[in-house]
Amino acid sequence: MSAEYQSRTVERLRPFGSTIFAEMTALAVSTGAVNLGQGFPDTDGPASMLDAARGAIADGFNQYSPGPGLPVLRDAVVADRKRRLGIEYDPATEVLITVGATEGIAATILGLVEPGEEVLLIEPYYDSYAAAIALAGARRKAVSLVPDGNGFALDTDALAAAIGPNTKLLVVNTPHNPTGTVLTHAELTRIADIACEHDLLVLTDEVYERLTFDSPDSSGRSARSTHVSLASLPGMFQRTVTVSSAAKTFNATGWKTGWALGPRELIDAVRAAKQFMTFVGGTPFQPAVAHALNHEDAWVENLRTSLQAKRDVLSSALADAGLDVKASDGTYFVCADISSVGGVDALQFCRTLPERIGVAAVPVSAFVDDPTPASGPSNWTTLVRFAFCKKDDVLADAASRLLTL
Ligand code: PMP
Ligand code: GLN
Repeated sequence: MSAEYQSRTVERLRPFGSTIFAEMTALAVSTGAVNLGQGFPDTDGPASMLDAARGAIADGFNQYSPGPGLPVLRDAVVADRKRRLGIEYDPATEVLITVGATEGIAATILGLVEPGEEVLLIEPYYDSYAAAIALAGARRKAVSLVPDGNGFALDTDALAAAIGPNTKLLVVNTPHNPTGTVLTHAELTRIADIACEHDLLVLTDEVYERLTFDSPDSSGRSARSTHVSLASLPGMFQRTVTVSSAAKTFNATGWKTGWALGPRELIDAVRAAKQFMTFVGGTPFQPAVAHALNHEDAWVENLRTSLQAKRDVLSSALADAGLDVKASDGTYFVCADISSVGGVDALQFCRTLPERIGVAAVPVSAFVDDPTPASGPSNWTTLVRFAFCKKDDVLADAASRLLTL
């Protein structure tokens, strides 16, 4: 960058710069560090899905798909949600195929929130939410997760108290990036009550919905965290847009194939925005993802159990390195507090970690508005997120490097 470099980015996007994931991946590449920063797997999805994509290209699925997405994928998304979660959507009007969950999130906010209206987030929150709110000219407010045992919980009273007359939309993400928290049925029921009472719209980001793990409960017994889809709770279908994607379920982050589900009047609004951003996504990926949704449940279950074992390996390695490791009940991620090894600022820690020990990670402070919220006991400045969605030998390599901390 020359000394005269001057940003021409519009003001509302200027605070966002480049994402923390891009920054830490670039650092990992330039230093040759093991990249436990950006959450992407280093192995491919089911072979039959990859074959189906190649087959789709060979069979001429190479032009624009219909605006809502190929019917075969809309049918598969709807069938999958009915089978696993018992929620019924109309494939003709209540599902929209998007360019990853990211586009579904942006289009939901752009299509449903007026400039100046408020969107309520639960922090830490995935970075694209704040940027999409800024694109929409809307305002954001964040309620912090609070420590709960060895993990985190939602203070639902604080959530209710944060709602004002201008609050239009609440964004919920479970299983939660970056903490690995899986919101409980009780928390989600309370969120549903609050949303109904205040007549809020809800955007629920469920990209890690299939990746929930067994964890010891308070009595020490191991229990599987269960994913509950907010739209299934009483009063929620009519007010909820659910977003998910193939990225995390089928190790296909580069395919950018996702979906938004909801009642017709909400999905129409999402489509109104989506059609002028990309019109449609990549056509040949759609029949391939449909095939995987219809036929690869066993592969996904295998992915889930292998990620659970990887979580355990990385959590032990972080503990052996002296960090205070938090519980992770789902996703690709485990967080650890660095204050036990003298760390005071997770961002600085992550900027120097690749050079110091050859491991990249991301600071949780990048996912919050206020790293030291006055309203809650959480302090996000010393928390670091590590991704465990990597091959066993890569994790073993990272583990031995972490021991040099
Ligand atoms: N939401 C969350 C919570 C994520 O972690 C990610 C990253 N996979 C996304 C949305 C974006 O998903 P996609 O790659 O399908 O756009
Ligand atoms: N979802 C991925 C993560 O949290 C990153 C996606 C991205 O780089 N935008 O690490």
